Amino acid sequence: MSRTWLVTGASSGFGRAIVEAAVAAGDFVVAAARRTAALDELVAAHPGRVVAQRLDVTDVAAAESAVGELVERYGRIDVLVNNAGRGVVGAVEETTDRELREVMDLHLFGPAALTRAVLPHMRRRRSGAIVQMSSMGGRFAFAGVGAYCASKFALEGLSEALAAEVAPLGIKVLIVEPGAFRTGFAAAGTLRRSAALPAYEETVGPVRASLAASDGEQPGDPAKAAAVLLTALDAEHTPLRLLLGNDAADALSAHWDGSRAEFAAWEELSRSTDFDG
Ligand code: NDP
Repeated sequence: MSRTWLVTGASSGFGRAIVEAAVAAGDFVVAAARRTAALDELVAAHPGRVVAQRLDVTDVAAAESAVGELVERYGRIDVLVNNAGRGVVGAVEETTDRELREVMDLHLFGPAALTRAVLPHMRRRRSGAIVQMSSMGGRFAFAGVGAYCASKFALEGLSEALAAEVAPLGIKVLIVEPGAFRTGFAAAGTLRRSAALPAYEETVGPVRASLAASDGEQPGDPAKAAAVLLTALDAEHTPLRLLLGNDAADALSAHWDGSRAEFAAWEELSRSTDFDG
């Protein structure tokens, strides 16, 4: 049976690729973006299968009322994809309070609001899926990406708990963790950069430079990612987390090895803190 999707940040990159994959699977998609003009081509390419919805996910009240209107108009939302997002680079000390709050609004509070808004409808139907676009940066961090990773770690914590809460209600949660993919993510006008301090030139400087240089050269193909996402979503046992890309697989595997070794080196002391007896 054909499903109805709501995909945020659908005007570019992963969002657009997910819309194309859902349409190819025979589904109907509400493609959401801040600037609906950026969706014109996508809508025109799939008449009657894709409709555009203006939505800034950081406007929590608008996000909630948009979901209500969409459910009224289309009867249901089977799959919510919280995809809208952007790259942010800067040392923690360089990142202003405002910059930190902006990225939390975009990657945590917006998705949380949309999730809250769709859940009553999904619970009523005892079915549905929520896809959270995280990142390999939702599993580990490195210099220069503190604010970005804080927001994706927060999204992952929220979503892991959510998955346990809604599984008995018939609702799936899928956290997607891409490595570097060829989207608009690292484009000059998209990537947010905090004002640089000379103290971080050696640690954060190379990250700024390599992120900017990666634009158009990233190894990951968003169309392949979208196809794998659909496969995972359609599986009888959808994973909680889906890592995407060789770079992500290599980096996470190294991170696990390091975490395991650190845990082992300190395990005895970790276990020494309970009350005696
Ligand atoms: P793109 O820049 O290509 O797409 C981002 C999309 O998000 C755009 O459609 C943009 O639309 C939209 N967006 C940004 N801010 C808002 C907002 N406030 N409200 C609504 N829409 C908004 O990048 P990606 O496709 O790569 O990014 C999609 C997701 O993938 C993000 O969550 C990102 O963190 C994640 N990701 C990407 C990786 C990569 O290497 N590409 C790696 C790991 C994770 P607008 O034109 O309005 O700005």
